[in-house]
Amino acid sequence: KNLKKYFPIKGGFLKRTVGHVRAVEDISFTIKKGETLGIVGESGCGKSTTGRTLLKLLEKTDGEVYYKGSEIFSLPKEELIKLRTKMQIVFQDPYSSLNPRLTVAQIVGEALVEHGLAKKGKEVNDRVSEIIEKCGLAPYHIRRYPHEFSGGQRQRIGIARALALNPEFIVCDEPVSALDVSIQSQVINLLMDLQEDMGLTYLFISHDLSVVKHISDRIGVMYLGSLVELAPKDELYKQPLHPYTQALLSAIPIADPTMKRNRIILKGDIPSPANPPSGCRFHTRCPHAMERCKEEVPEFREVATKHFVACHLV
Ligand code: SF4
Ligand code: MG
Repeated sequence: KNLKKYFPIKGGFLKRTVGHVRAVEDISFTIKKGETLGIVGESGCGKSTTGRTLLKLLEKTDGEVYYKGSEIFSLPKEELIKLRTKMQIVFQDPYSSLNPRLTVAQIVGEALVEHGLAKKGKEVNDRVSEIIEKCGLAPYHIRRYPHEFSGGQRQRIGIARALALNPEFIVCDEPVSALDVSIQSQVINLLMDLQEDMGLTYLFISHDLSVVKHISDRIGVMYLGSLVELAPKDELYKQPLHPYTQALLSAIPIADPTMKRNRIILKGDIPSPANPPSGCRFHTRCPHAMERCKEEVPEFREVATKHFVACHLV
């Protein structure tokens, strides 16, 4: 609710704060139990920062985050530790997110031991074997090291690590972006199977609209720290209302060569989040920008059932 996350920019000899990167600017949304909310946007738009702040891996600047009614930033430490086991993250890069010196048993089992859910040795190994098998890896792999696996297999290990504590909610931060296209769908299908099997809820972050399309129930589109549109998946693809969403969708290739799509090319680059444009943050690139857009921040409002958009045109 009204979540903001700014990062200080340090400058000069004294390393004083000279400004802020306004990575997440006042965004509000809900995620329902068992659903997948996709978040899309270009790199640097604040998707990952949003996901990490939701898990309190980053401190917020302002706003609130409620998990089943508890505001996580005001929870006492012991309560937060308990909640932590329920909220996990799968990182983008399976190459750098796994410690190369640890075996799979140690990587996936670490949290189990830490939280006292299994004793070191056979108990952990049995549990880890069970989890990695669920993720499509043979149990004998538990003694091997990350470098012995392919990219897709490593991401399966990353997913197994997130599942070790039996979580309810997982932030998937571009979990397939570093993988070959042929492997991407395998990992997405695995995530979908696990969701059904374990009743998981996902926030699925991607810069690729064709990736989120497959897995999401609803999709939110971010631009320069703001959530500009949020709608059920089919509605968003059929009737995108925000000019930025329209441009993103127009860039997806169609598999049918007889069909043509009018690609909307946006002018200019994404402005710096340290110095975002006034009014609607998209006005410097929007094909429909009006005078009003430079001054007034468009309100994020529900314009049709479950369809939210922030644009003066709509
Ligand atoms: Fe474009 Fe104005 Fe709508 Fe922003 S508010 S998306 S600039 S028309
Ligand atoms: Mg990111």
